[in-house]
Amino acid sequence: KLISFEGSEGSGKSTQLSRLAAHLQKAHHEVVTTREPGGTEIGEQIRNIIVHNSKGDEMCAETELLLFTAARAQLVREIIAPALIRGAIVLSDRFLDSSTVYQGIGRNLAADPVNQINRFAVGNVMPDMTIVIDVPTDVSLERIRQRASDLPDRMERENIDFYEKVREGYLVLAKGMPDRFVVIDGTLSADAIEKKVWHAVSERLAS
Ligand code: C5P
Repeated sequence: KLISFEGSEGSGKSTQLSRLAAHLQKAHHEVVTTREPGGTEIGEQIRNIIVHNSKGDEMCAETELLLFTAARAQLVREIIAPALIRGAIVLSDRFLDSSTVYQGIGRNLAADPVNQINRFAVGNVMPDMTIVIDVPTDVSLERIRQRASDLPDRMERENIDFYEKVREGYLVLAKGMPDRFVVIDGTLSADAIEKKVWHAVSERLAS
């Protein structure tokens, strides 16, 4: 099974991913966690290109899409697909929905080519379940201001509208694919979110 975590920066998805990994390990599952872009040597090199350029000036949206999806293509073939074949549960901190939302909706690329490129990059490896941790934009902005990250700090470059589009984009995707998506209120306490995530995941694993 492949479970992806999505949400804005500062949504707390990485914390929740680690907590879910611990639950699953306790239940004797093999768990593989991945973070994109990166996670493979080629992915790390791509990550460097994205990081260095994002601190400077504009990388065009098309390049950004192709770089994120290129890193993901590598991650799928090198790590995720082999792990799934072994029967492991793979938890991915972001996956193709991030490109749909950040590069597509956020940066105004047409949906059709974004979807096609996304699909081409991942092949037949699609998430079985996607957990969106949803937080209001002002909460997300406040949280991210309090931490340092090496990835594109969009706070510096993008306006509030961009974040609203990202948040809304996830909610629209989730609504359109209710079988795959679970949306969880990210303003709850970390412990409360952890319980909701575990409840949703254990329910799906049992079915
Ligand atoms: O929240 P996380 O640390 O995963 O995100 C890091 C940064 O990468 C965020 O600023 C996000 O905007 C950006 N990102 C992006 N496109 C993606 C994935 C992440 O712009 N496909």
